[in-house]
Amino acid sequence: MAKQDYYGRTDLEHDFPTDEACLDYLFSLSHTKECACGGEYNPLFKTTIDKKGRVRLTGRKQYQCSKCRYQIAPMTDSIFEKSHLPLKQWFHAILIFSNAKSGISAKEMQRQLNVTYKTAYRVLKQIRDSIGQDTTPLRGNVEMDEAFFGGKGNGGKYNKNYSDVMASKAKVIAAIEREGDMRAKKVPNLTAKTIDGFLKDNVQIENTRLLTDESNRYDNASKEYHRESVNHSKKEYARGDIHINHVEWFWKHVKASLRGTYKSISQEQLQSYLDQFVWHWNNRGNDRLRFASLLSAVVKK
Ligand SMILES: [Zn+2]
Repeated sequence: MAKQDYYGRTDLEHDFPTDEACLDYLFSLSHTKECACGGEYNPLFKTTIDKKGRVRLTGRKQYQCSKCRYQIAPMTDSIFEKSHLPLKQWFHAILIFSNAKSGISAKEMQRQLNVTYKTAYRVLKQIRDSIGQDTTPLRGNVEMDEAFFGGKGNGGKYNKNYSDVMASKAKVIAAIEREGDMRAKKVPNLTAKTIDGFLKDNVQIENTRLLTDESNRYDNASKEYHRESVNHSKKEYARGDIHINHVEWFWKHVKASLRGTYKSISQEQLQSYLDQFVWHWNNRGNDRLRFASLLSAVVKK
């Protein structure tokens, strides 16, 4: 990645020195300062300094046209709308999230933002909940694989508890378009019907070469797809360009990050964490663009 692609705290401070600059940016995401009537939008709020010396916006956080008096509130329906946290701190939180490719815990967010744990937790959750996954079908060379997360216990002697252990684990299917986007979804089971449903929802049949391992789980699920597989059980990890290395890297990355960053997450929370890792994958590369994309996502929420 080229150096200029880095976007950090200093850049943020330069681009968004005040809450007003942040609000101006939110306004600019969907409007221009010139109204269609020929008037000009001006802020209805003022920048003031409170008793503790903090810079605050007072008044309605809206803009009004100088001629037709039409009003625009850029924070409506966004995660900022009902929050008491100053916009500058929100922007900082969004930058931290955007740059945290291995995830970030509420504890670490608390430390970096200098807010209470409760606030840090809520901020993180709101950012995470606003990203979701795109629905444009993947195509071309698409790697697909499944993985198991969490669960309790081990297989026991002669693996006699194996099926119980596997049943208690969360199952996830992922598909990655090479040089493109990816999807990862928690699923209730790995039957042919479920895998087929995941495929139909996420991967286009035409112009797709589906790359998998040899697992017979796919045999009945992917009949309509052109499928090629590598035989891992025969120690074959790649045959020419037929491999699932990207999706295997993704599993390793997610599992290591979940272990390192989060002490424990419930199966109910797993999907929203997956969304976060998928979002980072789909927005890999340029820090600045990723930050801008996250800002748009939390506003549209
Ligand atoms: Zn107007």
